Amino acid sequence: MSTAPLLSHLDPTAEHCPAWCQYPEGHSYEGTDHEETTEFRYHSRPVGRVDLDDGAVIQVDVCAEDARRIEQPERVAVATPSVALYVDTVPVGLTPQVTADQVQRLADLLHTAAVELDRINGGAA
Ligand SMILES: [Zn+2]
Repeated sequence: MSTAPLLSHLDPTAEHCPAWCQYPEGHSYEGTDHEETTEFRYHSRPVGRVDLDDGAVIQVDVCAEDARRIEQPERVAVATPSVALYVDTVPVGLTPQVTADQVQRLADLLHTAAVELDRINGGAA
């Protein structure tokens, strides 16, 4: 897990979820770093998914990592939101076989995600 993007985005006012987050306001932090000095959670909003014929799923989300020092919980750092692309395959490691229609659907989802991201990062969210 990279923390580099967080350091330049310290925002002590970001205690609450961004308006676009799908989770309940103030959802809990999910884990810590190895030293247990920083805890993390992810703000997320699903854009859509493509279910492939072989059982694999491609999920497109907008998400942003949120971190805070356990000893300074008022210092919250939220990374600039980005598009997260998840591929779940069964069995694990299978190379997904994607049809032309599914590629078109994925392209539509990625375009929607890009528009959403521009809107969020432009401050309109
Ligand atoms: Zn959230």
